[in-house]
Amino acid sequence: MRNYSRLVCPKCKEKLVRKGGSLYCSNGHCYDVAASGYVNLVMGSRGSADSGDSGEMTAARHRIMSLGYYDGLLCKVCATAEEFAPRFIIDCGAGEGRFASAFTEAFPDADVAGTDLARSAVNVASRTVKGAVFAVANSNALPYADDSADVAVCAFAPVFPAEIRRVLRSGGGFIRVTPGARHLYGLKEKLYSAPYFNEESDEIPEGFSHRETVRSEYLFTAKGDDVGALLQMTPYYYRTSPEALAKVRAEKELTTELAFRIDVFVKE
Ligand SMILES: [Zn+2]
Repeated sequence: MRNYSRLVCPKCKEKLVRKGGSLYCSNGHCYDVAASGYVNLVMGSRGSADSGDSGEMTAARHRIMSLGYYDGLLCKVCATAEEFAPRFIIDCGAGEGRFASAFTEAFPDADVAGTDLARSAVNVASRTVKGAVFAVANSNALPYADDSADVAVCAFAPVFPAEIRRVLRSGGGFIRVTPGARHLYGLKEKLYSAPYFNEESDEIPEGFSHRETVRSEYLFTAKGDDVGALLQMTPYYYRTSPEALAKVRAEKELTTELAFRIDVFVKE
């Protein structure tokens, strides 16, 4: 059974209560629960259609992640989350729910929630991760009460530190996952004549202290159709000439680094 009791109304921050196929707050704001179990909290506004990632990109990422190549990263993120003994853990920009899935397995007694603006991704997440509650919501207006979460994760997604700070309890953990300098370098070598390293940020969000930086780096070989799927889940897919894309897609095998940087911050 999904537990919707952690959700609050994004308009007035009152608790949401389930009645039939909808959630209501005491001020009469009403949100429908979809057949797959997620709640759309941005109905009628931007995001109700399909903003955020495209459906194609979601499918490609779901395919690559389901192959298990991100398991090393998921394992390290769960280990850093464990230090905060989470009873309520949220994933901001949850995509198709791969992190939320790992959290429900690692912390079976915790409430796990995820938000994303892309409805197609949230639908996939809700269909596949039965133990978590997903909402179509903006990361700068999270549908959770003040000081309620023990851990908030933001992986490859826009970060709104003030909003994350609001929903975290004092001493709670903010785990930010960003691409490391060499992330997908092997792929970029195939795409560009002068590939570049990613820029990393050492910025500490206001109101947080930095606990640690953990790295998860390994080599990954995509084969056959997975080469195209890997390409399609990256931002380079939209920034590269059709000729260069076709050249990479024709590769039978592509080996590249996956390099992730996990920064752990503590709410002061
Ligand atoms: Zn309301």
